[in-house]
Amino acid sequence: MSVLRGRTALVTGAGSGIGAAIARAFDAEGMNVVLSGRRREKLEEVEASLEGAGVRTLVQPADVTSEEDVRNAIAQTVERFGAIDVMVNNAGVGLFKPIADLTVEEFDRVVDVDLRGVFLCTKFALERMYEAGGGAIVTISSIAGKNGFAGGSVYCAAKFGVMGLMESVFHEAREHDVRVITITPGSVDTPFFDDAHMTVPNRDRVLQPEDVASTVVHALMLPQRALIRELDIRPSNPGKRSK
Ligand code: NDP
Repeated sequence: MSVLRGRTALVTGAGSGIGAAIARAFDAEGMNVVLSGRRREKLEEVEASLEGAGVRTLVQPADVTSEEDVRNAIAQTVERFGAIDVMVNNAGVGLFKPIADLTVEEFDRVVDVDLRGVFLCTKFALERMYEAGGGAIVTISSIAGKNGFAGGSVYCAAKFGVMGLMESVFHEAREHDVRVITITPGSVDTPFFDDAHMTVPNRDRVLQPEDVASTVVHALMLPQRALIRELDIRPSNPGKRSK
C-alpha cells in the first residue's frame, strides 16, 4: 500500500497541465486531493477523471493572488479532510517579452501570481502544518528560476524570487518536520506555452506533465528523514528531430 494513502494535498493550478497531472498521480496513490484554480469547470473536468472523485476530492476554486481565497481554500481543505499534509504551489503564468515592451501592469501581474501567490499559499499552509507537527511544501518553480534569458525578465524575476523564498523557508520549516521540496522543470508540454504565445520547437520531445508529477510523487515517497530539497528535471534530448 502506498505510504501516501490517506494523506491530503491541496494542488493549485490543478485544472490543467502539470497541476492536473499531479492531481491524477496523487489520486492514484489513494490521497485526498483538493483541486484549486480560478476556473471551476476545468477543476471539475479533472475531478471527474479521478478514481476518488467525490469521495477523496474537493473542488475549491481560488485565486492565489487573493489572501482571502488562499486562507479559505486551506481552511476548507482542513475542514473536509482534517489536515493539509501537502501543499503544491503549482499555479503560475508565463509572459515573455523584452523589458522595453513590458508594461508595469504586466510585471506586477506575473509577480503577483508566480511569487506572491506562492508566498501566500506557503505561509498559510505552514501555519496548519506547524500545528499538526509536519507536512510538505512542493513548489513547481522552473529552470527560469536559475537561468536568465532574453525576454524572460519578469518570469525569471518571479521564479528566482521563488527560489530564494523556498531556500529560506526550507531552513525554517525543517525544524517543524515540514519538507520543502522545489522542482525546477525544463520545458513541459502544457497550455502554458499557448497562453504565453510561445512556440516550442520539437514539442513532442519535451517533458510531459506526467513526468513532473511522478517526480513529485517519488520525492514525497521518500522516508520522512530524507528530503529532496531541489530537483531539476529536463527533457533528455529536446533537439533531436522527430522521425
Ligand atoms: P498551465 O497553464 O497548464 O497551468 C497553470 C495553471 O495555473 C492553470 O491551471 C491556471 O488555472 C492556474 N492559475 C493561473 N493563474 C492563477 C491564479 N491567479 N490563481 C490560481 N490559479 C492560477 O501551465 P503548466 O502546467 O505548464 O504550469 C504549471 C507551473 O509549472 C507554473 O508555475 C509554471 O511556471 C511551471 N513551469 C512550467 C513549465 C512548462 O514548460 N510548461 C516549465 C517549468 C515550470 P486558472 O486559469 O483556471 O486559474
